[in-house]
Amino acid sequence: MNSEPLLEVEDLDVHFGTEQGLLGRFFGDDSVVRAVDDVSLEIGEDDVVALVGESGCGKTTLGKAMIGLQEPTNGSVRYRGQDIWEARTGESEIPYSKIRRSLQMIHQDAGNSLDPNRTVFENLSPALKKWRPELNLVERRELVQTMLETVGLTPASDYASRYPHQLSGGEAQRTVVVRAMLLEPDLILADEAVSALDVSLRVNMMNLLLDLQDMFSTSFVFISHNMSNARYLAGKADGRIAVMYLGRIVEIGPPDEIINNPQHPYTKSLIWATSGLSEIDEPIESPPLREIDVPDPEDPPSGCRFHTRCPEAREACTEESPELTPVGETPRHEAACYYARDDREYWNSDPLPGLEGESGGGSERDPRSAGAD
Ligand code: SF4
Repeated sequence: MNSEPLLEVEDLDVHFGTEQGLLGRFFGDDSVVRAVDDVSLEIGEDDVVALVGESGCGKTTLGKAMIGLQEPTNGSVRYRGQDIWEARTGESEIPYSKIRRSLQMIHQDAGNSLDPNRTVFENLSPALKKWRPELNLVERRELVQTMLETVGLTPASDYASRYPHQLSGGEAQRTVVVRAMLLEPDLILADEAVSALDVSLRVNMMNLLLDLQDMFSTSFVFISHNMSNARYLAGKADGRIAVMYLGRIVEIGPPDEIINNPQHPYTKSLIWATSGLSEIDEPIESPPLREIDVPDPEDPPSGCRFHTRCPEAREACTEESPELTPVGETPRHEAACYYARDDREYWNSDPLPGLEGESGGGSERDPRSAGAD
């Protein structure tokens, strides 16, 4: 990965106002959903990041903000140093059209993102016409067919003339992948791109995406709720897994580190929920969560947002939100948790009510019991 980031997300917030009834408006109730809250992340050239978390954790909103499809409330997203939203609204060193073409998206529902009344070629051609005006019809057709062959849709001329209803789910997804790749983007956001596929097709599609990533040196951000898929994609590409919880990245690092040396209790719960993932010797019998329900994003818990569900929570966790900090000496591994970094204030505060005597009140990991100062 080059040192110069391809994409730089800095202190990014995306907040949405919620629809208010008459009474809410009368009393000035201006509820806000903090879909993304204070996220910073760098994506390098030829880089892969798998963004994982439960539904509603803000991963799709973050992904869309990263490629310029969702306006940030605060903070910035820079493409090769150029703020995307400044480019969109005014003068910039890199034209917005260039940025738009360089940041593409593959949607989850491939079938719905293809026009049912147009053939595969007619679905793929308009973007080429717009972004590669130097190509004539014959050249466009050749390029489309070459890419269809690259993704295994052969004979390509046959697939080019099919309508979407004549494609299987996997073939439609490959067509959508071709549409994104035709523009030679620098980065592709793949939003749950394999989750709608049968298990048997899922690995094929993930391998195809990884082959294309390798072939074209395109950076990928894979959004997934499935830790197993995230591990496969980020692991094969020497990338990172970023774990999101209620609008924030709570842990990020190389897949082997995240899976076999997780630091954040939420990451541990995701691994626990995915069978056969961890190589940790002693599997945890019961769910490592105090509460199953996710808190209301309109009214997130104070301090660490995970404290209402965290088995390690102490009073200090309710006061201030922990920042991402490096985990030991491991490169690129960071976690946002007081417990993970043996924070003195954390250990000196009381376990939350109900956790006394449980793991949160236990001293197995308490640095004070090991004589740490
Ligand atoms: S900071 Fe506290 S509540 Fe948050 S994950 Fe760590 S131990 Fe749990």
